[in-house]
Amino acid sequence: MDTRVEMDTIRQHLIDPEICIRCNTCEETCPIDAITHDGVNYVVKAEVCNGCMACVPPCPTGAIDNWRHVLRSEAYSVDVQFGWDELPAQDADMNAPAEAAIQSDAPTVASDTVRGSTIAPWSAARPYVQLYTHKAPAMATVVGNYRLTDAAAQSDIRHIVLDFGALPFPVLEGQSIGILPPGMNADGRAHHARQYSIASPRDGERPGYNNVSLTVKRVKHENGDGVCSNYLCDLKKGDVVTVIGPFGNTFLMPNHPDSHLLMICTGTGSAPMRAMTEYRRRRKETGRLMLFFGARTREELPYFGPLTNLPREFIDTNLAFSRTPGQPKRYVQDAMRERADDVARLLDDANTHVYVCGLRGMEDGVLEALEAIAGSHGLDWTALWERLRREGRLHLETY
Ligand code: NAP
Repeated sequence: MDTRVEMDTIRQHLIDPEICIRCNTCEETCPIDAITHDGVNYVVKAEVCNGCMACVPPCPTGAIDNWRHVLRSEAYSVDVQFGWDELPAQDADMNAPAEAAIQSDAPTVASDTVRGSTIAPWSAARPYVQLYTHKAPAMATVVGNYRLTDAAAQSDIRHIVLDFGALPFPVLEGQSIGILPPGMNADGRAHHARQYSIASPRDGERPGYNNVSLTVKRVKHENGDGVCSNYLCDLKKGDVVTVIGPFGNTFLMPNHPDSHLLMICTGTGSAPMRAMTEYRRRRKETGRLMLFFGARTREELPYFGPLTNLPREFIDTNLAFSRTPGQPKRYVQDAMRERADDVARLLDDANTHVYVCGLRGMEDGVLEALEAIAGSHGLDWTALWERLRREGRLHLETY
């Protein structure tokens, strides 16, 4: 008789500290407060977690999706997890119980707690994920580092181009990579990876080259923040950077003809929108592109020059500036309301895919705007929202 199934085992939920970018999404998503963090790691309380999976789809890296079979009495405590630099291996003596047992203690995703799609559009290309890890990272060479914001602007936002040479690094628009900044933090531990959305299309920042671009804003050094952004913004041509990833298998663009993109972003959240827009521009594909892009001022808007040169027939661009002297604060959701008829027309089209990327705070405002626009145009937002989510047509990436 197999005695293992009679032992009081649990499938303990763990977060991989090597991949986690400490974005707090899991802690915010967890409906029962099973996730917590200290200054180093995000961890799961074994005695609270019920395996509802609500936190798994929104995690931008997949760090959240780790499980170990352990004796309940020997579950890893929160304090033990805070001390980890990497996950422990699965104890060989603690083999997984039968599949049926796993199924029974792993409820399906609590979909009502997840606001966006947890699947990619049906016509998205298949992404590669986690080809390169902490133990086997990719090395990339800096081939460009350009300031995107006006010299007089407060924000230093940069367009950084990394080349992988002959190393395969296949990416899709909407995916991200992790950068491992060199050096140690105050506790003598290696800095954890920081994640950046790729701003270039799948065929390279320069078409036909094995490179990617990133949109990076220099963050002031405060409480350990800004370690990676300052490192990246100071890079020179020829410097070599340690990269992990790629990450992301849902925030991907549709590839079928006549698919429309409704893109809403703030600041550096424009990176994936640039990638998707540039892919469409190179392919000369049909389908509408509508962009709502928010920044503090015109001078602080990344990609402002190239963006305003794109013809209106190709992309319907709507800018919103929040801190223009002498002007009222204007957010992307205000611009969306002003274009309500056109947004509603797109929402009512089954080929429309919606992408939201940027500050966490914008998510509520954008969803409220979509609800109001749908409501004022005879669309049932509750049903539409559910359909968008189910069909992989509503993608939210905010942190
Ligand atoms: P930012 O300059 O601080 O803000 C951009 C604009 O968003 C400002 O006009 C700001 O207005 C406005 N804003 C603030 N709260 C808002 C709200 N509730 N609704 C709508 N608009 C709001 O932005 P940033 O520093 O570039 O930050 C962008 C965010 O994108 C970061 O959180 C970053 O982590 C995230 N992100 C970046 C990438 C990437 O690849 N780099 C990818 C995904 C996400 P105010 O004048 O009120 O500040």
